[in-house]
Amino acid sequence: MSTEAKCSKPACDKFTAINELAKRRGFFWPSFEIYGGSGGFVTYGPLGTRLKQNVEAKLREIFVKKIGIYEMESSVIAPGKVFEASGHVDHFKEPMVECQNCHHRFRADHLLEEKGISSAEAEKMSLDEIAQEIEKHVVVCPDCGGKFGAPTRYLTMFETTIGPYAGSVGYGRPEAAQNIFVEFNRLFIAARERLPFGTIQLGHALRNEISPRQGLIRLREFTIADLEFFFDPEEPGCNVLKEVENEVLPILLCETRLKECEDTTDLTVREALDRKIIRSEWQAFFMAMAKRLLIELGVPAEKQRFIEKLTWEKAHYSSQSFDQEVLVDRWGWIEVSGHAYRTDYDLSCHMKASGVDLTVYKEFATPVEQEELTVKPLMAKLGPVYKGEAAKVAALLAKVPAQEVADAMQKQGFYMAGNYQVFKEQVEIGKQKTIVRGTRFIPHVVEPSFGSDRLFYVAFEYAYGVKDNRVVMSFPRNIAPIQVGVYPLMSKDGLDTKAVEVQRLLANEGFMVEYDETGSIGRRYARADEAGVQLGITIDYDSLTDDTVTIRDRDSWQQVRGAINDLPKLLHEYFEGKKNFEQMGDIIKS
Ligand SMILES: [Zn+2]
Repeated sequence: MSTEAKCSKPACDKFTAINELAKRRGFFWPSFEIYGGSGGFVTYGPLGTRLKQNVEAKLREIFVKKIGIYEMESSVIAPGKVFEASGHVDHFKEPMVECQNCHHRFRADHLLEEKGISSAEAEKMSLDEIAQEIEKHVVVCPDCGGKFGAPTRYLTMFETTIGPYAGSVGYGRPEAAQNIFVEFNRLFIAARERLPFGTIQLGHALRNEISPRQGLIRLREFTIADLEFFFDPEEPGCNVLKEVENEVLPILLCETRLKECEDTTDLTVREALDRKIIRSEWQAFFMAMAKRLLIELGVPAEKQRFIEKLTWEKAHYSSQSFDQEVLVDRWGWIEVSGHAYRTDYDLSCHMKASGVDLTVYKEFATPVEQEELTVKPLMAKLGPVYKGEAAKVAALLAKVPAQEVADAMQKQGFYMAGNYQVFKEQVEIGKQKTIVRGTRFIPHVVEPSFGSDRLFYVAFEYAYGVKDNRVVMSFPRNIAPIQVGVYPLMSKDGLDTKAVEVQRLLANEGFMVEYDETGSIGRRYARADEAGVQLGITIDYDSLTDDTVTIRDRDSWQQVRGAINDLPKLLHEYFEGKKNFEQMGDIIKS
């Protein structure tokens, strides 16, 4: 695996440098190393776990707190029926080839991509066409140079059995959306039976990838955040659209892609909707919010784009899809979120498969009067003919549409209710007026879906920088894994005691604080910069007499002097974004 390569010079490939730093500083590393590792699994260490929590907190801040999306948490394993109904068992497959020499297996579309065949093209190919392309481009095994056998389609869900019964098939969820759909009725009640509403689930998902080789970008076990937003298709308007109307979305349109061009078209949310490039207002709203999320994670707008999915690239459930992509150093554009208009696909599937009503009742503004055709069995006529079975005949008639009976009577003078021939004179066909007060329908769904590990990765890569030959992880201030480092200039003469006091004070104020007294102050600053510690507070000999400290900024390396008593207020204002570093005190000239 290329991530294994040792790289101490910041000048080499960023992906390699990042992975080396991540291992050394305990952000993340490949799991199960003592047993030789297992591809596609990752372990987040102390700093990484915290950073991931902060990235996810950002996502929750925007979608749960600000927009008011509900959250839920359900199981990773689901009975087979769930993924049979959702279509995953049939569709969640990837083309695979096996080397006939070393028997290693690979994603055929990924191998073709290296030969310049886009994933868009590969995705619409049949297995035969894939085989032809492999032959034509002389694609051989990357591990041994061997020839490949015929491609097959491989189900990328982890299959298991639930309990001790072999017949009880279960799957590890490849996404977190189905939990939301199968719990729809209860979630709808929890949402006080009102549309629109959205539910998000953040949790682990499993995909048994054929050959994951991209570190955090492609994992077999990963964290996903699926947000399902339910609305009435007859009232599809987004009531908060104004907040994002002028947000510019750089979109790589289908029509552009078909010309094999990569130019994006900058459209405001309003323009994209007016030109019907995005069909759902809610979908456009979530795309704009996704762009803002990435900016908050440190990815500038110009390093983001949305790519409209071609018909054959769309997931089986989607009527319109966009992927949000971020430009990264090693892999080019990678997907960080998907935005699909799932219509009523999922609820319909689960309703059909489970037999449980998943519709929503809507009252009309004004009740509608409808005339209804009725078929009334005349028992006095049916009785003598069918004797004891007359009631059964009447019951059969009650189950069929009245129109069907009326049509048959008019056409042929009788109707076959099961095996019973019923004649015109044995029923009375009439009309009845009813007041209809409402109707039942299946809500539509738009889904933004984020890969948490990818959000982590892009935040990590965009934070990575080199200053004076040293690595500085410049995380946005509210996702930095450690907010404040506290350092005694020397670990003696009472400086350490004083520093511990400051550390306790700030920890009790709710800050994520780290105390470090080992090594020279320069080395400690360098370590802190690599870990992305936002501010450093140094206790020196003056601190003992006047109760002031220096505060150091990670990115500019500038320092200000402040009173210990003022620190809680000052730091709260800084981390809430109300003050910049320069506003925290007079910059010390060095
Ligand atoms: Zn091979």
